[in-house]
Amino acid sequence: MKSEFAFINQIRAQAARRSADLVCGIGDDTAITSEQMGRETLITADLLIEDVHFRLDYTSLHCLGHKALAVSLSDIAAMGGQPRFALLTLGIPKNNLSAAIRNPQWDEFFAGYFALAEKFGVTLIGGDTSASPQSLVIDSIVMGSCESGKAVRRHGARVGDAIYVTGNLGASAAGLELLRRGECLNDNIHDLVQTALRTHLQPQPRIEFGQLVGAAGLAHAMMDVSDGLAQDLSHICEESGVGAIIDDETMPVAPETKLVAENDEAAFRLAVSGGEDYELLLTASREYEPALLEIARTCHLRLSRIGEVVAPDPSGTSPLWLRRGHRIEALDTSGYDHFA
Ligand code: ADP
Ligand code: MG
Repeated sequence: MKSEFAFINQIRAQAARRSADLVCGIGDDTAITSEQMGRETLITADLLIEDVHFRLDYTSLHCLGHKALAVSLSDIAAMGGQPRFALLTLGIPKNNLSAAIRNPQWDEFFAGYFALAEKFGVTLIGGDTSASPQSLVIDSIVMGSCESGKAVRRHGARVGDAIYVTGNLGASAAGLELLRRGECLNDNIHDLVQTALRTHLQPQPRIEFGQLVGAAGLAHAMMDVSDGLAQDLSHICEESGVGAIIDDETMPVAPETKLVAENDEAAFRLAVSGGEDYELLLTASREYEPALLEIARTCHLRLSRIGEVVAPDPSGTSPLWLRRGHRIEALDTSGYDHFA
């Protein structure tokens, strides 16, 4: 049986050093990184708990390793930053700790994790490992950086801004529903069912798009769509003290939603309130639209203008409105809420 330390050494062997700013990675009491002049550090943590965020009968450990890092990279992308270092803390169920550590599936977890780390030049520099009484717990931390003052925050949206979103929305929520119905990922099949499952199990963080938009200073506010577009956009509205009108015709509803939604209205609801799309949502001045579309083209991403930022509703009833032809109605901003 491998000990905790053999397990950590195995991780250490794979955590290739990728940055000149790393003085000391895995193996000491702390990691050491050097500061960069004129840059700011971005830090984000994401907790993934078995049976809350994932189910081991729905996901392979390979996908889980990918997703654990992807969700944190998405936060760095949303700030317009460049990811640099990662920390990974694992709580592994006690009843099968030794089996888990010996289990070759753990190699799969790290294969998924390190493939994505490699893709974006991220170095794993530490973490912690412990037994857990029941469920698998993963805490993923990523540090990134951006030019000082250039991080794109949620509070900068201005009245008159156009609202944009990358990619399509709702495919991940459709994928989750398909997993619940018993569908399984199969790398050899390329159809809508598989793209829905892949979007849910292996989300692709929009790092390049976020970084280019951030560096060019094109967006006033940006965030990633993790809890559903309506809820996430309402956070931008709240932080910026504005409202927003969304146009139902321009919403990039993912074709995968049709697999689980009974009609167009249900598909639209899934796109607006389903979570875990990990696309980027931003507001920007209309004059920058050609530049934004050019960046999207470079990144092979769709970019849709889905609405506009408006003055806050004086009655305070809703920050978000939906335009349907000539009618305007309040848009429900509820999405995923752990305390609901
Ligand atoms: P300490 O007891 O001082 O916290 P540990 O024995 O827990 O140290 O960890 C030894 C080294 O291994 C540290 O550099 C730590 O960051 C790293 N480490 C432990 N667990 C993990 C993990 N799951 N992923 C990456 N690095 C890890
Ligand atoms: Mg420790």
